[in-house]
Formats: sequence, structure tokens, C-alpha cells
Amino acid sequence: MADLGPAEARPALPGDRQFDVAIVGGGYTGLWTAYYLKRRQPSLSICILERDICGFGASGRNGGWMMAAVEGEQKLLAGLEGQHRAAARRAILGILPEVEQVLAREQIDCDYRRGGGLFAAARYPEQRETQLAHLAHYRELGYGEEDYRWLHSGELAERLRLHQPLGAIYTPHVARIHPARLARSLAQCVAGLGVEIFEQSAVTGFTDTAVLTAGGAVTAPVRLLAVEGFSWNLPEQRRHVLPVQSRVLATEPLSDAQWRAVGLAEYEVFSDASPLITYAQRRADNRLVFGSRGSYRFGGEPRADFRADGAAFAGIARLLRACLPQLEDVAITHCWGGTLGIPRRACPHAVFDAASGFGTAGGYLGEGVGAANLMARTLADLVVAPDSDLAQMPWAHRGLPRQVLRRWEPEPLRWLGYKATDKVLGWEESACARAAPAWQRRLWRNASAALAALRG
Ligand SMILES: Cc1cc2nc3c(=O)[nH]c(=O)nc-3n(C[C@H](O)[C@H](O)[C@H](O)COP(=O)(O)OP(=O)(O)OC[C@H]3O[C@@H](n4cnc5c(N)ncnc54)[C@H](O)[C@@H]3O)c2cc1C
Repeated sequence: MADLGPAEARPALPGDRQFDVAIVGGGYTGLWTAYYLKRRQPSLSICILERDICGFGASGRNGGWMMAAVEGEQKLLAGLEGQHRAAARRAILGILPEVEQVLAREQIDCDYRRGGGLFAAARYPEQRETQLAHLAHYRELGYGEEDYRWLHSGELAERLRLHQPLGAIYTPHVARIHPARLARSLAQCVAGLGVEIFEQSAVTGFTDTAVLTAGGAVTAPVRLLAVEGFSWNLPEQRRHVLPVQSRVLATEPLSDAQWRAVGLAEYEVFSDASPLITYAQRRADNRLVFGSRGSYRFGGEPRADFRADGAAFAGIARLLRACLPQLEDVAITHCWGGTLGIPRRACPHAVFDAASGFGTAGGYLGEGVGAANLMARTLADLVVAPDSDLAQMPWAHRGLPRQVLRRWEPEPLRWLGYKATDKVLGWEESACARAAPAWQRRLWRNASAALAALRG
């Protein structure tokens, strides 16, 4: 959010109040949920309770890839047959058209640009094999060439001058956005529709009918939790979502000549196939933003302050320069990080218990910029239109979160599991980077696949 300047916080909850719907968390999930509830039923009185300011969480700090995709969709779709699978696929692919309509209708400017995505660009032969297998799986699920297609090395190099390009998956279903601009504009939009937003109002717990903060309680028949990685702060929800950090850096603005040397003329977003999970975008101000997989702290406390993470940012800068050596001398001007949430089932959810009025949405595994719109729409439908098509999708669940969501293992198992995965992925990356013998590269790739299978 640094380039937007500090936002003045809205007033905190001034005392006890009553609403039809209380939403906890002012990120994309909470904001989109408020938006769709209000648009579907304008008479509803709705409030959002935000601990800091809207967009303080991952929504104001992410890499700005808005995808018409949900992490874990292969698992979600694989469980469906025929027309149900096609309907779920359409709902997922419908994310960007839906967002585009809202941005136009509400005149929201968030530097949205749909330039498509160069996914998981392979730089080593094993990575190409993995990505081709991934593409084959997309085909089995019914996605066509028009959705995901292979770019061979020459085609990839025309779009992105990556070091050692061996090919990538191209999709038109990705847009670049400015994350904090979207969060702040959405907050303004829903406030304009009559949603009351209380900032600096941390929710400390729930009763059967109310949401509690230090400044007062909100009594509401419907109470919806949208705090993603921050659910750690709420003991009942703590083990539903694992809070994991991701880190991002931004270069100084690049000149036209530098951009010609890099590519991304259409403002495509890109990632390389590194197991360290990279993601990059060309911003409207011509900086390159580049992020990578982060870390997990024992116990799981979310983080917002990354000033002491110099060594980790230096590692990301090395990764950036390994992908794009032509940027060797470019200055890195901004570094930041944020907390995202990983659900135990590895796919997102919208959950609502009509009997108690309690619900939640999230679990995006670091792919929530687009998915939050879909989950929020689904959650809104579970509340006010439970017979809708969206409310029948495989990510829609009825019941209490604790009945529906799988819980993470207690510590130290979570930490050990995360560390083991992290180490193996690091070894896989370094085996590729130093051109270790093929059997070693395969060994680490198979080890990371085995760990993923173990997580189930
Ligand atoms: C560094 C980084 C890069 C990422 N890049 C991408 C990307 O490029 N593309 C993509 O699709 N996804 C990306 N993600 C993930 C994506 O940003 C998230 O999935 C998405 O923003 C989640 O939105 P949310 O509203 O559910 O959660 P958040 O945005 O985290 O919002 C939760 C809100 O709840 C508030 N809150 C927490 N506790 C309380 C409480 N007790 N009371 C009241 N309020 C509370 C927080 O302050 C916060 O504002 C990235 C995430 C990170 C961290």
C-alpha cells in the first residue's frame, strides 16, 4: 500500500449496535461479501468490523494476479461428473467477466489489465515435463486450448525474455491489478451502498448471537468471518487455516528499453516453474513486482512487519535475477510481505450454517485475488439465495465451519510438515539451478510430490 500513502482509518465501533449481518474482516472476502449481499438485498443492514484498515491483510499486499481459477480446482472438479463439472468450470472461468462488470458499473479503478498469464515457465527439462502433465490434467477436466495452452520456447521468448526458456502454459484468464487500490476502492464502494465499516475494531470472540470487540458488541442474526490467515487470532477457528507468509519486492520503474529487453508487452503476469513459487507482474507505473513463497512461524502467528527479513528478500532478488539476468543492475526499491491462509483440504470454501447464522469463506492458498470474488458471491448466496446454482457448487458447504472444515494437526506437527516441505522444495530448486545430475533433480521432484500426497 506504500505508494498509495497512508489511509485515514474509519471510526471504530462506538458501542453496542444491531445489524442484520456482521462481517469480520475488511479484505476482498469481507468486502465482496458485503457488496453482493447489499446488491442482492438492499434492505439488509450490514457492517464490516476490521481490526486495522480495510486492505491491511493479504488483500492490500499481494502480487496482484487476479485469476479466473481457484487453487485445488483440479481436486474440486475431478469429483464432479458431466454437466456439474461443466457448471463449476463455467463459474470459475466467470470470475474475471463478473469482476469486469462490477469494476465498470461501480467505476472502480484498480489498474485492472487483462493481459493473460505465462504460468510456470519451465527453465529445466523436468519442469517442462511437470507442466505438460499439468496441462494434460487441465484437458481431462474439460479446459480447452482457448483456456490453457502450451507455448513452446520460441513463443514464450517472444513474450518474455526469460533465462533458458523451455516453454510455459499460457492462459488468457488472468488480469493484473493494483491490490491495495482494489481493496480501498471496494471499501469505498460498499460504504457508498450503505454498509457501515468500523476500522480499528478487532473482533475478540463470538457469542451465539453477537460479535465482540473491545469497544462494544454487534448483535446480528448473521455473522460471517472473513479473516483468512488471521483466523489464528480466534481460538475456535485457529486450526482451520494455516497462516503462511509470502514476500514480494518491486524494482524501480523500468525504462522502455529495459521493458523491451524483458518482454511482457501485453502486461502478462508470469511465474517460473520454480518449486519456490514465484509470481510477477508489470505494474502500471512500469515497476516489475516479483514475489515468492514465504515461511511459516512455529505456532502460526500471522505477520505484517517484514523489515527484519533482509536475507529472505535477498534470496528473492537472486531468484528474480536468475530468471531475468538482464535486470542485474536494476534497483530493488520496495520489499514487503503478508500472511495468506492454507486450508487443510487445500481448496477454498464458503460455509454457512443457517440454523445459527454463522459462516465463513476463504482458504485460498495464496490464490485469493480472483477466488475471493467467487467465494464471497457463494457465501452471499448461501445466506440469501441458498437454492442458487452457486450455492450448489463443490466449494459451498452447509453447517458450522468446525463440522465442515478439516483441522490442521497440532504443533509441532504443522511446523515439522511445513519445514520438511520447505527444505525439499529448496533442494529441488538448487538441484535444478546448479544443473545437478538428472537423477538428483528427479529425486527431489518426486520427494516434493510425495510430501504433497501425504498432506492429502
Ligand atoms: C504477499 C502475498 C502475495 C499474494 N499474491 C497473490 C496473487 O498475486 N494472486 C492471488 O490470487 N492471491 C495472492 N495472494 C493471496 C491473496 O492476497 C489472498 O488470498 C486474499 O487477499 C485473501 O483475502 P481475504 O479478504 O480473505 O483475507 P485478508 O486480505 O487477509 O483480509 C483479512 C482481514 O481481516 C482482518 N482481521 C484479522 N483478524 C481480525 C479480527 N480479529 N477482527 C477484525 N478484523 C480482523 C485483517 O486485518 C484483514 O484486513 C497473496 C498473498 C500474499 C500475502
